[in-house]
Amino acid sequence: MANLRFNLTQTLGGLSSHIARASSNGVPFSNPKSGGPMILDLPLEKIRRPLMRTRANDPGKVKELMESIQQIGLQEPIDVLEVEGIYYGFSGCHRFEAHQRLGLSTIRCKIRRGTKETLR
Ligand code: ADP
Repeated sequence: MANLRFNLTQTLGGLSSHIARASSNGVPFSNPKSGGPMILDLPLEKIRRPLMRTRANDPGKVKELMESIQQIGLQEPIDVLEVEGIYYGFSGCHRFEAHQRLGLSTIRCKIRRGTKETLR
């Protein structure tokens, strides 16, 4: 019995650490069925940056964000629109560049669903 309990604890322990790892690697934190935004870690290369075309980032801001993100992590996800399976970043250019420069592979995003009309 003691042995069984030990095994169960080990199994549950493994499961919770798996969930924690999965959460930082792309499993939704909030339920998308509710229709609200979903918080997800997306690979940087999956995010298209329509805003980058119009304005250059302030290098000072990016540097400050790099230091802060390294110390305390990203405190506010960037806003992303998902249209037909493609992700478009429409805020957070500086946070995005800070992640790129830090060599991070993913960034935490607040994702809303949209249509092609929304992108115009
Ligand atoms: P961006 O183009 O990324 O929106 P801004 O300079 O306009 O850049 O805003 C920086 C944003 O980054 C702010 O909304 C701030 O709350 C957010 N943020 C998230 N994580 C951090 C962090 N670790 N340190 C500083 N600001 C952060």
